[in-house]
Amino acid sequence: MKNKGTMNTRISSLFQKSKRPFILIAGPCSIESKEQIYQVTEILTEENLSFLRGGIHKMRTNPHSFQGLGEQAIDIIKNLKDSHDFNFVSEITDPRQIEVLSPIVDIFQVGTRNMYNYELLKELGKQQKPVLLKRAFSAKVTEWLMAAEYLIQSGNEQIILCERGIRTFETSTRNTLDLSGALIAKEKSSLPVIVDPSHGTGKSSLVTPMALAATAAGLDGLLIEIHPEPEKAMSDGYQSLNFIQFKQLLKQLRKILASVDRKIESGFFYENFPDRDTSERNKENIQLHSS
Ligand code: PEP
Ligand code: MN
Repeated sequence: MKNKGTMNTRISSLFQKSKRPFILIAGPCSIESKEQIYQVTEILTEENLSFLRGGIHKMRTNPHSFQGLGEQAIDIIKNLKDSHDFNFVSEITDPRQIEVLSPIVDIFQVGTRNMYNYELLKELGKQQKPVLLKRAFSAKVTEWLMAAEYLIQSGNEQIILCERGIRTFETSTRNTLDLSGALIAKEKSSLPVIVDPSHGTGKSSLVTPMALAATAAGLDGLLIEIHPEPEKAMSDGYQSLNFIQFKQLLKQLRKILASVDRKIESGFFYENFPDRDTSERNKENIQLHSS
């Protein structure tokens, strides 16, 4: 492993600018209907937030569970984009989805179960869009960083790492949110590292405190599941905040951020990424691992 600062990615240089942007991504686990995602988008607009998440293709443990609306959700987002400005974050589960998702997805999410899917990573490495790379629930920090390196080696340096909880002996939470692992990833790679306390805890009551802890620890953003009516959600309702809880979280979050001279990024973030130009990149500098 090389030391912090040796990886010369564009996204990392963005994050090393003095303003240290903080990314807040929020939205439902799954897109369930036009009404549901419109309501969520309205809340984000009201709060001047520019990253909407919403699952189109879901990776469910149980094959009988809701698998996402697929094409129907794509049409919903297409229409929503006509009337609202937002960066859309959604999980891609198979390289064959790249073509159909590209027109609407601004940041491709690689989920915990696909972090080890190197063929998917290689294909996303050829795309000119940022990738939100979640840590596999069984991955060591070094394996997570190696997965990032697959993207980098294929030409995509626009990576946001996301800690979403790991599997431990503890069963009172869905996962164990590994904030120290997230900080190690930041130290070792210089990539921005955000935290997902929704999947990280699996309990809506723990989302706000763990989100605030991650923020106070100096991490670079949050991914939060929200839903107009969590108790009726088709997936992950038990870990989703309702709008009132979300607004309360934002209030506290803004106070913590202000105290360290940071604020939530509100612009159209994707425009901040310069066009990919691999020719000027020093390949030696971006290697996370020397062998
Ligand atoms: C999600 O973000 O809804 C999701 C399924 O995440 P993960 O891959 O971390 O479980
Ligand atoms: Mn979810």
